[in-house]
Amino acid sequence: MPEARVCLVCRRPLKGRADKKFCDDHCRNAFNNQLKSGKNLYVRYINKVLKRNRRVLEALCPPNKKQFKVSKERLMRLGFSLEFFTHSETDANGEICRYCYEFGYVSIEDDQFLVTKRREELRTPASARDDWMQEPLKDHK
Ligand SMILES: [Zn+2]
Repeated sequence: MPEARVCLVCRRPLKGRADKKFCDDHCRNAFNNQLKSGKNLYVRYINKVLKRNRRVLEALCPPNKKQFKVSKERLMRLGFSLEFFTHSETDANGEICRYCYEFGYVSIEDDQFLVTKRREELRTPASARDDWMQEPLKDHK
């Protein structure tokens, strides 16, 4: 006995062509949107964390100042996540500076962080041109 075919979204029985998967366009669109959002969920989550981190640092940065200290506890309270950062640098002393976009932070004494706001326009690599960002990926093998 053939399996009763049902719509992948609403589970209603399907009539018509054997390769039909959805009862109508509404269900097809719903399915495709779900698939798309599922694929990007992880990327979107990390982007959200990074944006939140940046918002926290920006809110803490005193006006007209490039550097400030903040306790780890205060960062945590404001919802800052130490898990994700945009990039990192190791200085001559082996000290690791982690970045959230233009804000660099290093761990200092007593669970404090020293945060430095860089002038991001000076640090943006020349390769970050729009056309470069849009280029298809090349495999240089
Ligand atoms: Zn349906």
